[in-house]
Amino acid sequence: MSVHARRLATLRERLAQDNLDALAVSNPSNIFYLSGFRGSAGALLVSESRAALLSDFRYRLQAKEQAPDCDFIEIPRRLVYHLGDQAKAWGVRRLGYEAGHLTCDARDQLAEGAVDIELLPWSPVESLRAVKSPDEVELIREAVRLADEAMERMMGLLRPGATEREIALEGEFHMRRMGAEAAPFNFIVASGPRSALPHAETSERRLQPGDLVVIDIGARAHGYCSDITRTCAIGSADERARDVYGIVYRAQRAAAAAVRAGAVCMEVDAVARSMIADAGYGQAFGHGLGHGVGIDVHEAPRLTKGEEAPLSAGNIVTVEPGIYLEGLGGVRLEDMVRVGEDGAETLTASPMPDELPVV
Ligand code: ZN
Ligand code: ZN
Repeated sequence: MSVHARRLATLRERLAQDNLDALAVSNPSNIFYLSGFRGSAGALLVSESRAALLSDFRYRLQAKEQAPDCDFIEIPRRLVYHLGDQAKAWGVRRLGYEAGHLTCDARDQLAEGAVDIELLPWSPVESLRAVKSPDEVELIREAVRLADEAMERMMGLLRPGATEREIALEGEFHMRRMGAEAAPFNFIVASGPRSALPHAETSERRLQPGDLVVIDIGARAHGYCSDITRTCAIGSADERARDVYGIVYRAQRAAAAAVRAGAVCMEVDAVARSMIADAGYGQAFGHGLGHGVGIDVHEAPRLTKGEEAPLSAGNIVTVEPGIYLEGLGGVRLEDMVRVGEDGAETLTASPMPDELPVV
């Protein structure tokens, strides 16, 4: 049985458990996970006995090649309407749809086609994706390796006078040349006071002696992502910067060590959060500790306040505490960690020194 046939079979078990006849899949990442199709326009309909990929002429050949476990139905326009109409043709009475993804307009179109069908917001696909199979782990390892290579390259380019943008461009070019399909998000090179912006846009700013520089990058390879952050200082570092780095470093290590199957997400978050708060920087760590990484760079599970779900074997999460001080700068350190049956494994190989590296 192919990997996609297995995933469809698992989805069908869920359909049966929840007494649904079919799922209308519109999220492209979920379509890729279930079928292998990577086109930008398409929808998938999965019932107990059938799976059909609906798309237009542009994707006819690609769908046959990438999604051999699904029938192809060519739809020139009004894709989501036809998704509902197809469900009706299959005799579906209860149809799940991805409420977190469909726009209000698309939901109306689906309802227009799905005459006399009960529509239920329902999709277990994100939670299925959170548990990676051994094959997926290997693909993610490759994406991690590419990001590690790009990080090494970028670290080697840091010097006073270089712009954030040229470092980001060179890193991305190198990563693509080494085999990455794409950067899953715009590379972040944030220097000086700009490093206090957790998701800074890379700018034309030139690096200056004494700057903190946060580099947050990722790779996509074979449809799977990676995500890594390192922080260093240019030329010299003052005592406060070194102190803040040490706090983030210890919080990162302690939280990564707390990652294991059965650990509650919010408790892993709390390991880092309490250390940062005890050091007096609680207000300066305003985002969650980490997130799942796979087909999407941000996916389930979430290591964050209030998240009561436990981690399970097969999850791959980032552990990325940070401290951000307005006007001064920021420090963030991010590794990817795989949750195994007994223990965890850090996938990221880029060095993470225990003291602020000065380059
Ligand atoms: Zn990141
Ligand atoms: Zn991240």
